Amino acid sequence: MTATMTKPSPTQTAIPLLDLVAQFNAIRDEVMPAMERVCESQRFIGGPEVTACEEEIARYCDCKVGIGMTSGTDALLCGMMGLGIGPGDEVIVPTFTFFATAGCVARLGAKPVFVDVDPDTFNVTAAIVEKAITPKTKLIIPVHLFGQLAEMDAIMAMANARGIPVMEDSAQSIGASHNGKKACSIGRLGTLSFFPSKNLGAFGDAGMIVTNDAELGERLRILREHGSKPKYYHKWIGGNFRLDALQAAVLRIKLRHLDGWSKKRQENARRYDAMFAGTKIVTPKIAKGNVSIYNQYCIRVPNRDKLREHLNAQGIGNEVYYPVPLHMQECFKHLGGKAGDQPASEKAAGEVLAIPIYPELTEAQQQRVAETIINFCR
Ligand SMILES: *Cc1c(COP(=O)(O)O)cnc(C)c1O
Repeated sequence: MTATMTKPSPTQTAIPLLDLVAQFNAIRDEVMPAMERVCESQRFIGGPEVTACEEEIARYCDCKVGIGMTSGTDALLCGMMGLGIGPGDEVIVPTFTFFATAGCVARLGAKPVFVDVDPDTFNVTAAIVEKAITPKTKLIIPVHLFGQLAEMDAIMAMANARGIPVMEDSAQSIGASHNGKKACSIGRLGTLSFFPSKNLGAFGDAGMIVTNDAELGERLRILREHGSKPKYYHKWIGGNFRLDALQAAVLRIKLRHLDGWSKKRQENARRYDAMFAGTKIVTPKIAKGNVSIYNQYCIRVPNRDKLREHLNAQGIGNEVYYPVPLHMQECFKHLGGKAGDQPASEKAAGEVLAIPIYPELTEAQQQRVAETIINFCR
């Protein structure tokens, strides 16, 4: 391939990894009045928008209750507080995930026990988790990475046999399913993030815990407000983890579009799969029984960093989720993790590359992304 072939033509505009402006323009007429209603009410904390948002999102996840949270991170933290996780406890988490999953464990004084992931799905399996269980294991947090669920049926059978609760980190997988069961509805509780880049994104930070355990839900609701019930009488030490009404109003509008957006992402994924077929590019594998919502479409290539440079030069959005597995992070050095401990995760960290998959991506844009990658990797 010659250099001239790779020069972006002046007519070609950049293709972002995610185009939230396009999404906003499509729903502006619905979202703005909803936000205006909240402004007119001047009711920003709690209230009908938050309650309705919790009910609607819980129902969407096939769960009984939703507890709106400030972020996906706080949902993880508060969820663990509700389960009584603390010093001396071990919590099993994948090493190949966003930092928050393990950071929250450490913040509560518990020990994150890092496990490897399946190289095809990037998710933990029952067999991998089982090997890490000790008498101190108090919780298992499977992360449903990139939009597809971990093998929850097998994980639940294994965890239930040992009486260990499971909390699903579903930040990247709202609406995805495993054997017909939706993310968050399988474990004891599930956590969601509405960070703008998630499939259901707020206009800022937001998150939610959803669960079918009404009693746990009530405890979480109290912990969300500094553990106080009634007001100013503190039963437990909680925090301020409240979802605000403006975000709730935005989320309620966006929720109506979520299935349509996820469907578009699935169509885009199918098109990429076909475009990359027969090339050296390894495409995402969706496990049998899973429906993915493709929060990310992560390809694997051996010369990933060179490809990144090339895509950047071509104005094609891309990102590495995640370049350093958690057992190798500086802040967890004291736990003794080192290179070679978790081979599948370490290999993935060096090879994965997320490319544009967002719903508004056009077929022509997709063609350009795929051709640029295929030509480079030839
Ligand atoms: C985004 C994310 C979180 C954290 O969510 P925030 O809303 O950004 O705090 C946690 N876990 C995973 C897997 C995520 O992708």
